[in-house]
Amino acid sequence: MILKFLRHLNRAYGFLVFAIYLAAFGIAFLFIFIFPPATLALLFLSIMGLLVFKALGSVLLTVERRWNRARLAKGICPECGAAALSVVVADAGAMQCGVCEVRHDAQGAWIKPVVPEPRAVQA
Ligand SMILES: [Zn+2]
Repeated sequence: MILKFLRHLNRAYGFLVFAIYLAAFGIAFLFIFIFPPATLALLFLSIMGLLVFKALGSVLLTVERRWNRARLAKGICPECGAAALSVVVADAGAMQCGVCEVRHDAQGAWIKPVVPEPRAVQA
């Protein structure tokens, strides 16, 4: 449950931070007319916030990878929980689940699936 939430949070983290900054921009834009110093404060707060968000993102990713490594070491797929890690991909010790076909590298990081581009249809 927590791992699933952490996984979804990590995969959407960039969009989440972008949404927070977009909301901050909207608030700052409104404060230009109401209370201009708040806009300046929000600007500097958001610049410093980049460091905080970057550090938080690294921590969340590290926690998920450790959790994934522990499950992979037991032979359990971190994604679906099946004990079907039958396929070991040759590149850098990546493991692929036989049930959900999700791949993880040796450090426990999720490997984004490569989706082939659709072929052009000849009319
Ligand atoms: Zn799986």
